[in-house]
Amino acid sequence: MKIGFIGLGNMGTPMAQNLIKAGYHLQVYNRTIQKADDLDQASITKCKSPAEAAANVPFVVTMLSEDEILKEAVSGEAGLLHSLQKGGVHISMSTISPETSQLLHGLHQQAGSHYIAAPVFGRPEAAAAKKLFVCTSGGAKAKEMARPILEALGQGIYDFGETPGGANVVKIAGNFMILASLEMMAEAFTLAEKNGLDRAAVANFFGATLFNAPIYQNYGKLIANKQYQPVGFKASLGLKDARLAVKLSQTSQTPMPLAMLAHNRLLTSIAKGDGDKDWVEAFGKGVAEDAGV
Ligand code: NAD
Repeated sequence: MKIGFIGLGNMGTPMAQNLIKAGYHLQVYNRTIQKADDLDQASITKCKSPAEAAANVPFVVTMLSEDEILKEAVSGEAGLLHSLQKGGVHISMSTISPETSQLLHGLHQQAGSHYIAAPVFGRPEAAAAKKLFVCTSGGAKAKEMARPILEALGQGIYDFGETPGGANVVKIAGNFMILASLEMMAEAFTLAEKNGLDRAAVANFFGATLFNAPIYQNYGKLIANKQYQPVGFKASLGLKDARLAVKLSQTSQTPMPLAMLAHNRLLTSIAKGDGDKDWVEAFGKGVAEDAGV
């Protein structure tokens, strides 16, 4: 089956590779189309616009960086809305605000197509290993139609109802929990280091016992070992997620002091010129610098 795929960044590329492995032929669009050179050329058609990528296919997947860029790719002059067939489904997998999902749902409804939100948890390595956790929201029929595509990308699909932005709220809440965990681990391991202990031994202990969960184990290792390469998730995108959490906390009158703290940690790192470095570095290096190590 032919489907559209838009956005070949750190996440989009391994996701596209898994869809190809599952037997899909992809009509791909990316701002810099050279990114498509890494994909099996026999399984893709390179497109010049989002509209071209979504033409004559029942599904189009988007994995672009943020709200405004996604909106342009959907309803801009060469947006996918103009070409996606009636009854077609837009599977929107970026981390964006629930408002944007609501807006895009409305636009698709007017155009006779469907929109579902399907943001994911997992870094590029998890995407490559087909280990993403996918959260969904939107119309039941469209979600059911999209299921085989989502199954080709991850290890589990978790549904959060028919309100278009529901899954986006879950994704924002989850990334906030990761942000807070990064700050907490960076502080704890730096405390250990400053008191003469081996950061890695402390991280291993907690990861195996009290904090026996993937976030503490995987991110714990990176923070403990001060291992910030390769860049899996840019600090600039981390700030975007902290901003989404802060904004949602404001619009829903939910005070989130920890979200403000994480936001400022990322903002500081970006102000120092580290926006393209991994978000883990913003926390690991930021906390260490504050402590003079
Ligand atoms: P990335 O920066 O590697 O890729 C971003 C994509 O957006 C690229 O395809 C790029 O060409 C496109 N893009 C950026 N600016 C553009 C513009 N002005 N015009 C047109 N296209 C533009 O980002 P990523 O890490 O692949 O993340 C993609 C989405 O997935 C983001 O919403 C991110 O928050 C989310 N996400 C990332 C991770 C991760 O670990 N990297 C995990 C889960 C979710």
